[in-house]
Amino acid sequence: MADYMVRAMDESGSIRAFVATATALADEARRRHDTWPTATAALGRALTGTALLSATLKDEGESITLRLAGDGPIGGITCDADEQGQVRGFVREPHVDLDPKNGKFDVAGAVGGGYVHITRQLAIEGIYTGTSEIVSGEIGDDLAYYLTKSEQTPSAVSLGVRVAPDGSVRAAGGVLLQLLPATSEEEREQLEVNLQALGAVSMAVESGMTPEEILGSVLAGIPYKILEKRDIHFACRCTRERALSSLASLSKDDLHEMIHEDGGAELVCQFCAEKYQFSADELREIHGDTKGTAPGH
Ligand code: ZN
Repeated sequence: MADYMVRAMDESGSIRAFVATATALADEARRRHDTWPTATAALGRALTGTALLSATLKDEGESITLRLAGDGPIGGITCDADEQGQVRGFVREPHVDLDPKNGKFDVAGAVGGGYVHITRQLAIEGIYTGTSEIVSGEIGDDLAYYLTKSEQTPSAVSLGVRVAPDGSVRAAGGVLLQLLPATSEEEREQLEVNLQALGAVSMAVESGMTPEEILGSVLAGIPYKILEKRDIHFACRCTRERALSSLASLSKDDLHEMIHEDGGAELVCQFCAEKYQFSADELREIHGDTKGTAPGH
């Protein structure tokens, strides 16, 4: 089933809710980056969280970037998403698999301590980056803390990834709840009861629940309306042309070395691990040394 998210609001306009399934998204990232289970869980959670945060983007070219700059073995996570539901991301060190903690992935141990940086690039408001501390390293709690502290929107974030014995992603999903000041005490208590009843969101996704069904469970007893449904998928903006033009910024010496010692160059996109190969002739063209390919004089 393709991944998608739903955005909803309760009838009194005091609760915003976002729910996403992200199994294919998380598994595509795992496949491309060859992440090991703990890294798969961490990257899958971060990608799902980024997708949820992108739900309010609407104008062309808008995007959101999440950077978890932690000092754990994973060495940092970077994800971004645009208004079309295109999400991509990577971990610096994909080959991380730690012993489970309390029967769960030790994502906190893989991420370590440090900072959460979130950059929103919006059509009208421009670019804004906010920062907060990594408070747990479990990613969901860190995003909630960021939203509550840096953006003054009290939020709860639940993100989960289930990994199959063969290392592939069996289920991934997430829930983001934002409470506006008008949220009543009864509603808050109801939400807490509902979240408790739902349990782990990854298990709900694994059991086959759709985003609408998970939303129905999270907002049980509270009248609400679904405002939007949006597809999400792994997609990168890199192209061969862009990779080639990035080589143009290299020094003449570096290019010379690639041409004469390596006989070409290979560039790997950090975000999606796509490989781009360039021949010595293509490099000569950037180098301005067209000997051998030019008409002659
Ligand atoms: Zn790419």
